[in-house]
Amino acid sequence: MDLVVRVPRHPNPGETVLGTSFVTYPGGKGFNQALAASRLGAGVALIGCIGSDDYGRALRAEIDGASIDGSRLRTTASGTGVAVPVVDDQGRNSIVMVPRANGDVSPADAVAAREVIEQADVLMLQLEVPTTASAEAARIARRAGRPVMWNLAPYADISADDLALATVVVVNEAEAGGLLGQAPITDRDALEAAGAIRALGVANAVVTLGANGAAYEGPEGGGHVPAYAVRAVDTVGAGDAFCAGMAWALAHGRSLAESVEVGNAAGALATLVPGAGPSMPSRSRVEEMLGRPLG
Ligand code: ADP
Repeated sequence: MDLVVRVPRHPNPGETVLGTSFVTYPGGKGFNQALAASRLGAGVALIGCIGSDDYGRALRAEIDGASIDGSRLRTTASGTGVAVPVVDDQGRNSIVMVPRANGDVSPADAVAAREVIEQADVLMLQLEVPTTASAEAARIARRAGRPVMWNLAPYADISADDLALATVVVVNEAEAGGLLGQAPITDRDALEAAGAIRALGVANAVVTLGANGAAYEGPEGGGHVPAYAVRAVDTVGAGDAFCAGMAWALAHGRSLAESVEVGNAAGALATLVPGAGPSMPSRSRVEEMLGRPLG
């Protein structure tokens, strides 16, 4: 659950400032990406943990309301994971994240969801739950011949063995820098960075570049796909919408280049509406943006 606080300016240590608003939104990268994929018309099952508290109940209601299969969500005693973004008048964010139930997700949860993972057209992973759990899910998917798309966000170190479980890695410029052990990469270096990520043992790498679209590199080569020109009002959730668009296309057997294009359309549309959940675009908006039916 995102607990968003607005302040005129960020407090210094030991200081109290008066906030101007406080709103809660269902969130988390897994939930956002599941919601975005579901809006694109995909059948989605979400695997993870929530708390038996008001936030957990609110999230379950959102999950049910979006027709996402929440039957593999385990309720734990830790309390629902929360993020507290503090946003100042200049739009600058600082975020405190407390994983709580997210930290309880274990390899056993992946094993318990084996059937749904084996039958999925694509397994979509992030880094908001322990990597051991995600890696176990990825092994199950790979053994069943299913593609695994791993969005390394928020960035945390990942072992070479775990990374190699992904068929597609999606990172933004800062995450690409983290993965390659360097400063955030720039638009100019993005294609090279995608190649360097492949050299770490992943078949396909995608680096998202905000208003500049995304660069990709796969076994059939690489390229840059420009973003759709939009008047962005709030880029929160753009990366999650991008991942869902890409996953939808990969699940339907599209090429890496075309999947990035669908991701770009979903990502651009997400910048037109404030917040994460509310900004996830419908299938018809994505088709309008692409200028063709998704098929
Ligand atoms: P993150 O939010 O994870 O940092 P990005 O900012 O790179 O990710 O955005 C993800 C994707 O969303 C981009 O690759 C692009 O397709 C789309 N996007 C983001 N910002 C804009 C923008 N200002 N205009 C058009 N598309 C955008």
